[in-house]
Amino acid sequence: MTSTAASTPSQSSSTAGPGDPIGGVPGAPTGRRAEQLTSRVVTGMDAAPVTMSAPFTGLPVTALPQAGDAEVRRVFTRAREAQTAWSDRTARERQRVLLRLADLVLAHQQEVLDLVQIEAGKARIDAFDEVSATALVASYYGKHSARHLAPRRAAGALPVLTKASEVRHPKGVVGIISPWNYPLALTAMDVLPALAAGNTVVQKPDNQTALSALWLHELAGQAGLPTDAWQIVLGRGSAIGDALVEESDYLCFTGSTPTGKRLARQVAERLTSYSLELGGKNPMVVLPDADIRKAAAGAVTACFSSAGQLCVSVERIYVHESIHDEFVRALAERTEELRLGAGLDYRSGMGSLTSQDQLHTVSAHVDDARAAGANVVTGGRPRPDLGPLFYEPTVLTGVTEQAALFREETFGPVVAVYPYSDVDEAVARANDTEFGLNASVWTRDARRGEEVARRIKAGTVNVNEGYAATFGTVGVPMGGMKESGVGRRNSAEGLLKYTEAQAVAVQRGLKLRPFRGMPPRLWAKAMSAGIAALRRLPRR
Ligand code: NAP
Repeated sequence: MTSTAASTPSQSSSTAGPGDPIGGVPGAPTGRRAEQLTSRVVTGMDAAPVTMSAPFTGLPVTALPQAGDAEVRRVFTRAREAQTAWSDRTARERQRVLLRLADLVLAHQQEVLDLVQIEAGKARIDAFDEVSATALVASYYGKHSARHLAPRRAAGALPVLTKASEVRHPKGVVGIISPWNYPLALTAMDVLPALAAGNTVVQKPDNQTALSALWLHELAGQAGLPTDAWQIVLGRGSAIGDALVEESDYLCFTGSTPTGKRLARQVAERLTSYSLELGGKNPMVVLPDADIRKAAAGAVTACFSSAGQLCVSVERIYVHESIHDEFVRALAERTEELRLGAGLDYRSGMGSLTSQDQLHTVSAHVDDARAAGANVVTGGRPRPDLGPLFYEPTVLTGVTEQAALFREETFGPVVAVYPYSDVDEAVARANDTEFGLNASVWTRDARRGEEVARRIKAGTVNVNEGYAATFGTVGVPMGGMKESGVGRRNSAEGLLKYTEAQAVAVQRGLKLRPFRGMPPRLWAKAMSAGIAALRRLPRR
């Protein structure tokens, strides 16, 4: 593993002034800019501010105002007041705001690339994935939401006489809870379709990565979004989670499966709807005819992007026994070529973990797997020489069922490779998990790849790619089966989930009951003949 020692930040003073770079990261925007962004948080007087630290340096970022329960409820009141005016705009007017936002994000990306790197500790190329996902999602809903939301005609109960249509109404105020790992992209993927559908939004980003969400919020204002249409509150889930759940007309949560289950139980009490984007233990299946070098290179991206702190990251690889050893050698080689570093530039291929908790889980999983008989092919060590939270990208073989990481999500740069002897076994092992978020299949035969893909129980499956093909295609739904979630983001589904469907039918002339004086038996007979005739008509 190479490292970019030159870009390792200096551990300077922890008493930074407003003119100093955020988190003491060389080249970062200043503390003054961070203060400007945090002033966009509309509340924050109820609880003491919280200061997170930059993963690259361990130094403080900025003081974040924290809301309390009562403040969050006041924010919802404002969002509710703003909702009618926003939904009264036409869907095309709302689309135009999103299209302007897509342009602004691309034009101003340098600053947010810095912010995402500083807050999440990831490599710049991984931060760029967030910029591109944000621009793609804003463009998609900027172009297609009016069409998806348009009233849809449906065949009426009595042809010609019953005119029926499906109309979509916004839910009202959508509550969105976002995690720290993809702070810009996940904000965009969840907030923008909610706004496009005519809702207003109250979002709680994670404290660790609040500046990235606030940056997008600032740009949305420049793109023409009214001030109260999207409001951001900060605070621990334990302090403001109840208010968010109780005030939301729809709850969109992204995070871990245990938190998702807990919130679902709370939301069920109110009978409001929700979507949950949760954890995964994503498999990759390498078929015997795969191009080994391409599959190994694809695995490095699939496993180590954002240091594996990506919900759709691959953590298990099943390789046909005929090519297993060669694949493991190629994977180790490509992994060792990854350049680790903390610079705000494109020189490193992998950054740092984001928090001490993450470092603890990753180290514990690798140590436990080792103790349970696994071989560390490459990696397996923290790298404090590069920054306090760096951990080497790690490839394991011989992982036994006793190891925690055999089943549990590590959410870090660790992958286990297993041999298999036939494809049915590979599919069965890929499906042998409580999760069902993402999967990947590698083969030279794309049709065969699609066949195998359809047998894997995961919300997204990529053939000859790890995750980016589905992640980048906003026109297809993304989400989890089994314990990986409920509902989908992206595509028409990711927009329509934020709406109430309403059926409106106009009955002309003939009623759907016997005419006056007509014997009901005769009516039933005539209707039965009519339904049978309709059933024989060719489908339009
Ligand atoms: P987490 O602990 O569940 O937290 C996620 C967010 O929920 C944070 O903002 C957290 O804020 C908040 N939260 C926690 N308890 C809450 C409560 N009772 N009420 C309201 N909000 C609450 O998850 P994480 O460890 O940060 O994120 C990593 C997990 O997310 C992984 O399992 C990963 O796979 C999953 N993930 C899934 C997707 C997807 O699209 N499927 C995408 C990204 C991440 P506080 O910590 O401040 O309380």
